[in-house]
Amino acid sequence: MNIRILLIAALAAAYDYNLFVVQWKPSQCVRKSSHCAKGFLSNDFSIHGLWPENFNGSWPQDCYQDHDWSETDLKREFRLTDDLEEKLRKNWSSYKPDSRGFWKHEWDKHGTCFEPNTGSIDFFELVLKQFDLYNVKQDLENAGIVPASGNGYDKNDIQNAFSKRVTIDCRKISKRIYLDSIFVCLDKDLNVIDCFEEFRGPCGNNILYPEYTPGRDDL
Ligand code: 5GP
Repeated sequence: MNIRILLIAALAAAYDYNLFVVQWKPSQCVRKSSHCAKGFLSNDFSIHGLWPENFNGSWPQDCYQDHDWSETDLKREFRLTDDLEEKLRKNWSSYKPDSRGFWKHEWDKHGTCFEPNTGSIDFFELVLKQFDLYNVKQDLENAGIVPASGNGYDKNDIQNAFSKRVTIDCRKISKRIYLDSIFVCLDKDLNVIDCFEEFRGPCGNNILYPEYTPGRDDL
């Protein structure tokens, strides 16, 4: 860790726990599938981010700026190896064509506040590791909840698929409710804990978990 990061990390806001957020890819493209980057759609969750959070619902953000983005190329500045970039593209892709911009945003806004702070590369690797540890799709499948193009699922059945309470994030599009994201709550040592909030957004008794048909550009 360089001395600048060390100093800034010491100044960074303290926080209480972390939210590890994964998004259901097909839900990101409902109604705006044509805006989703080519190749983004698949029947998978992908990483949104790892966010330091406080028990009172507030969170620290943009703890410091350690890159001058206007002048530098993201790959060079982050020193992303081809191997790391490939893993990020596979599991942390953006629905927008510019996944690097998404990683930059997530690092700047949330990652710079994460403790212990050993820099962006370590943060990216740590988040990818969390993604390998929590197979949200498998937990849902074990409870009989699978992506489908028909009816949805009761919000409590989705919640009960998990051994610790997660936060289920729903999104309403054209009067229909979609499963947008799942938040896994992690203490500062990255152990899973019960989330305080069960649902976020307009979740109801019929949450759609839409299935994407491979080969199509839309849902
Ligand atoms: P956050 O919720 O992490 O504070 O901000 C998310 C930002 O990243 C938004 O400005 C959104 O437009 C941008 N973004 C880029 N790609 C994605 C993506 O694949 N999913 C989500 N949820 N946001 C994305």
